[in-house]
Amino acid sequence: HKQVKRICCIGAGYVGGPTCAVIANKAPHIHVDVVDLNEKRISAWKSDHLPIYEPGLVEMTVLPRDGSPDRPPNLFFTTDVKASITKADLIFLCVATPTKYTGIGSGRAADLVYIESATRMIAEAATSDKIVVEKSTVPCKTAASIREILSAVGKPDVHFDILSNPEFLAEGTAIRNLEQPDRLLIGSLTTDRGLRAAASLVDVYAEWVPRERIVTMHLWSSEMAKLAANALLAQRISSINALSAICESTGADIDEVAYAVGLDKRIGPKMLKSSVGFGGSCFRKDVLNLVYIAQTLHLPEVATYWEQVVEMNEYQKQRFSKRIVSCLYTTLTDKRVALLGFAYKKDTGDTRESAAISIVNSLVAEKADVRIYDPKVDADAIWMELQWTSPNFADTQKRVTVCKTAYEACEDAHAAVIATEWDEFNNKDTEVHIREVNGLAVIGRSPSSYSTGSGMQFSNGTLETSPAPKNGHRVIGTASAADGGHLQDGLSMTPTPTS
Ligand code: NAD
Repeated sequence: HKQVKRICCIGAGYVGGPTCAVIANKAPHIHVDVVDLNEKRISAWKSDHLPIYEPGLVEMTVLPRDGSPDRPPNLFFTTDVKASITKADLIFLCVATPTKYTGIGSGRAADLVYIESATRMIAEAATSDKIVVEKSTVPCKTAASIREILSAVGKPDVHFDILSNPEFLAEGTAIRNLEQPDRLLIGSLTTDRGLRAAASLVDVYAEWVPRERIVTMHLWSSEMAKLAANALLAQRISSINALSAICESTGADIDEVAYAVGLDKRIGPKMLKSSVGFGGSCFRKDVLNLVYIAQTLHLPEVATYWEQVVEMNEYQKQRFSKRIVSCLYTTLTDKRVALLGFAYKKDTGDTRESAAISIVNSLVAEKADVRIYDPKVDADAIWMELQWTSPNFADTQKRVTVCKTAYEACEDAHAAVIATEWDEFNNKDTEVHIREVNGLAVIGRSPSSYSTGSGMQFSNGTLETSPAPKNGHRVIGTASAADGGHLQDGLSMTPTPTS
């Protein structure tokens, strides 16, 4: 089989950028181009201000060379898509596959417009045989459409082999996940050519991943495995959140329940953190994609089953917003609410589908003044997200302030909501400082139970504090823990499983 010497990755986003940074570092003999049509994104990758925040990413992309910081010598970012395709042996498709919002399958089906346009670019630019690898999350059998486009548009003497190699990284831990993956999945046809192409990609990863963790299988299974993994992860979060509603009405503590069930080896402790709901660009879209696939295959019971996972998540977000209102004596009009955290989980600057967005929109609808602070999401990104999602953006502009510190956000607040489980909201120092600002301690746990270890208890809707909070101030604990983030709550009274 062929040895891969040049890789072209189409799509310089949350997946393409970190994945290629790790490949370039681990396989110095491979020339890696990351290409994108978005010039702003490419120039950000070339600058010292990378377009995305991910722990360890700067160290992977900006290496000290000749005494000054520079890229790894084999890692390149460019908008010259065609030239890079022409020279590559292997091409990763790392473009977005968002949910369609108009037309057939609107609100559920994956929009494959970027996959198709990138595939056409490959077909047009390729003058020699290429291995084309789906890294984007795609519906089962997308590789068949890619093959048809490539053979219809490509030059007659050029052969394309198509592989599926879905990405399992989680934002916030992407570099660790890429360096030490639980498994790497490579799907191919079982023809000689297909197996040879798969072997070429196995060699790339085998530079740093133990061979037994590189799993090969049929194309369709590999495509399906990615959707299945995300559906099962999202389902665990919705399941624990559904149980949290029962706990809140009965006096059971969902964290204790999760701890108890997680000790069962068949269940395990991870992804069992009750929260305000999952966010991020993948879970909702991938589960809905599965729902759509089931519907088109005339499997309505299967579709309804998975649809509930997303519905439960929406319910949990609404339930939490209602809880804020009831905690503040059923009216929020002109009350100041600090919202700590806007990213969909800690250690990322990504705000796509963040539960914080729905909280802000419902707080604004209740006429609260909202003061947002997030350590890694800048004001522009917050405003852009709110502009897209606010039912009434003029109102939002009047009521929302983006702050530079947690303390500024909490000043004179009637309540503080922790929407993202950032470590800085989860330590005693922050708590003490915020108490100094306005007499309330802010530490988030789950919507159902809450304990700070500092004389405050928030459980089943009752707030007991010592000393009593000033001016009817309230503490509303939650953390998004979306996408499986875990709060390491050193202040918890109950044993908390760590991830
Ligand atoms: P993203 O939106 O951050 O990046 C996609 C990039 O592709 C954009 O910069 C866009 O400009 C570029 N692009 C689109 N069409 C192009 C074309 N024809 N030529 C060149 N560039 C083009 O998306 P992402 O978060 O990196 O996700 C990419 C895929 O990976 C999706 O299918 C997603 O479901 C999947 N995935 C994402 C994650 C995650 O944590 N974000 C994890 C696993 C899998």
